[in-house]
Amino acid sequence: MISFLLIATNEFHHLFYQSTYLEYRNTTPIMQITVGQWYLIHGAYTFGTLAIAFVLLSIYWFKEKTRQTKQVIILLTGILLPISTSLAYLVGLTPSGLDPVPIAMLFTSSLYLYAIISTKFLLVPPIEKDYIFESMGDAVLVLDQTYHLKDFNKAAFTLFSDVRIGEHIAAVLGLDNQILPLLKNIDANSIITEVEMSNKSALDYYQVKVSPIKKGESTIVGTTIIFTNITEQKKEQMNLTKIAYTDVLTQIYNRAYVLSVAEKMLASHNKMAVILFDIDHFKKINDTYGHLGGDEALKHVAALCKSVVPENGVFGRYGGEEFIIFLFENEADEAVSISESLRRVIEESPLPYNEIVINITASFGVVVKENGLALTPLINEADEALYASKREGRNTVCVAVDGEYTKLSSKITAGKY
Ligand code: GH3
Ligand code: MG
Ligand code: MG
Repeated sequence: MISFLLIATNEFHHLFYQSTYLEYRNTTPIMQITVGQWYLIHGAYTFGTLAIAFVLLSIYWFKEKTRQTKQVIILLTGILLPISTSLAYLVGLTPSGLDPVPIAMLFTSSLYLYAIISTKFLLVPPIEKDYIFESMGDAVLVLDQTYHLKDFNKAAFTLFSDVRIGEHIAAVLGLDNQILPLLKNIDANSIITEVEMSNKSALDYYQVKVSPIKKGESTIVGTTIIFTNITEQKKEQMNLTKIAYTDVLTQIYNRAYVLSVAEKMLASHNKMAVILFDIDHFKKINDTYGHLGGDEALKHVAALCKSVVPENGVFGRYGGEEFIIFLFENEADEAVSISESLRRVIEESPLPYNEIVINITASFGVVVKENGLALTPLINEADEALYASKREGRNTVCVAVDGEYTKLSSKITAGKY
């Protein structure tokens, strides 16, 4: 803009052209000029920008040899044309009085137009691509055919401490990493998996996408591995899963989940026991201590149950104040004694509530069965046994054997169990 203004107003200051005159040497008059101070500044500026652009592009090209070669060659040629022609002009290689630079610029512009149209490089300029790669939140590792690191971005540098160009992927990820076997199996398609990785102090979840880098249709020349942190989603998902199988009040399994687990366990076990128990006169607890007192009683019983049921046993809340326990194999043989222990511990652990205590007892129905197990008939039998316990005066364990219900009187069996 300054040069333009100075040329337009040159006759007042002669900063651009000191003097100009027409020389009639041949048939065509030629303008002869004596350059002014600003002419030199303008020339230095133009050459300077061209030279800097040339150097920057060359450095970029040297670093990123594989990418955008065609565009870089076109751009470099475009820069070289005005540089070389104006140099030729300055040292007097061109016919006197003829400035070839405008003509060279015509070719330069044509080359740039060709580059824009043929390679669409203005849409995603090379520099932009680099920027996108570097500023991605996902960690990206680029491997060659022999699984050595060819490139990585800033996020990968943060995630892996041992990331270095030329390093083998096993050294970057650690030898026991779950992703390594996937690399060997990579074919034409991407593989997506989830892994847990310790990120600084915390354990994070990552979705890992392993994709082949293809040259043409079928030649695989490398692999990219993209790590997306999905810890938040994963935690939310685990939270939802927990909500789906947990009883909100007692924090033990809910009915649907405990039945589905038992159903699955049946498939791999030959012996199973079902213990169904129901808190005695629970309506009275609700009536006396309020619904909140009743809730506390339910939580209390669930916690006691947790401490008595063996680790491999499955237990949950079956209904309002009814609980169910499934035991398998050798532990199924212990079902009666476990029920009796539980009955006793409930009876002997009154719940402290608002400066008083709530006495709780429960009635139990037990059934143990070998072979040909089916869930619903067994639960029904346990339910019948539970009602037998209620009939027998509550705070009792009854066992169902072939449609008969045997009561284990707490007084008689107290010593035995
Ligand atoms: P029984 O000894 O014959 O079992 O007598 P019961 O009073 O326990 O009889 P029933 O099984 O009919 O009573 C169950 C009561 O449990 C009825 C219902 O209001 C109450 N209940 C069900 N779910 C909850 C709960 O989540 N919290 C509270 N506080 N009460 C509940
Ligand atoms: Mg009850
Ligand atoms: Mg009930």
